[in-house]
Amino acid sequence: MEYFEPKTVSEAVALLAKHGAETKVIAGGTDVMVDIKFKEEPGGLVNIKKIAGLSGIAENGAGLRIGALVTIREVESSALVREKLPVLWESCHQFASLQVRNTATIGGNICRASPSGETLAPLLVLDAKAKLAFADGEKTVPFMSFFQGPGKSSAGINGLLTENEIPYPAAGSKSVYLKHAVRGAMDIAMVGVAILLTPDAAKNNAQDVRIGLGAVAPTPVRASKTEALLRGKPLTAALLKEAGALAASEASPINDQRSSAENRRWIVEALTRRGLAQTWKAATGKEVA
Ligand SMILES: Cc1cc2nc3c(=O)[nH]c(=O)nc-3n(C[C@H](O)[C@H](O)[C@H](O)COP(=O)(O)OP(=O)(O)OC[C@H]3O[C@@H](n4cnc5c(N)ncnc54)[C@H](O)[C@@H]3O)c2cc1C
Repeated sequence: MEYFEPKTVSEAVALLAKHGAETKVIAGGTDVMVDIKFKEEPGGLVNIKKIAGLSGIAENGAGLRIGALVTIREVESSALVREKLPVLWESCHQFASLQVRNTATIGGNICRASPSGETLAPLLVLDAKAKLAFADGEKTVPFMSFFQGPGKSSAGINGLLTENEIPYPAAGSKSVYLKHAVRGAMDIAMVGVAILLTPDAAKNNAQDVRIGLGAVAPTPVRASKTEALLRGKPLTAALLKEAGALAASEASPINDQRSSAENRRWIVEALTRRGLAQTWKAATGKEVA
């Protein structure tokens, strides 16, 4: 197996342009090393950990810039992320174990493009964007169009994710990330639901609602029909019931070793209703009537 350790982004993308078909980028290695042991060995590895400029969490205008090499633990430990992007913080807080969080990077979670990737539904509801480098230039891609199938993303085989641009949600917004897994710890999500709700100024209606679903379709998805149903309305128990059922119908889950598709739909319905009730109460101070 060939092994490369580029020191700059341009060196890395030149290597990927030449060897992308047979090599793999490795960051924290928590997915790549497991694949090498249990699936297949790539022809080579491009280790990006020595590239300067891919780390750090910093304010950038009205949002945060999070470098691709930032570990899940660094996100979880960031007071800035916890205050400004609590839905992303929650997903990192519920991620695997401390040991895995210390090694796994946010860039690896994103580029793995697993439907169950913990940070993906939060990034969708935050309307975040990926910054990608290629040998012929840079591209900024909204996460809404970044994921193309299990393991497939706009990074392709030649692209390097360098950073993530995450705008702050509107003032007064409240969010939640709800994860359901077979085990309470060290398990990937059977279903993950991220909700971001913005009330109107008078706090009578949900001005904007964004719902991200993980592990229930070939890619993480936004439940856009459910969002449209809720927009501009006060949340009532009857509306939540309708919204839960609609969100479940927007999922297209599979049967696998973690759950049947039918069970995943029930969980989407339950978590959507629960998440909407929680964010409505947090945003308006009112229980759903
Ligand atoms: C025990 C265990 C528990 C886990 N639990 C969870 C969990 O609870 N939730 C969850 O979501 N995941 C979980 N995972 C999966 C894994 O930890 C995450 O997906 C992690 O974020 C991957 O990050 P990494 O830096 O280790 O990526 P790597 O393994 O280095 O890479 C992952 C993929 O991304 C590509 N890649 C990495 N960085 C870049 C980049 N900057 N540009 C382009 N391509 C890139 C690699 O080529 C590879 O295809 C778990 C894994 C293990 C082993």
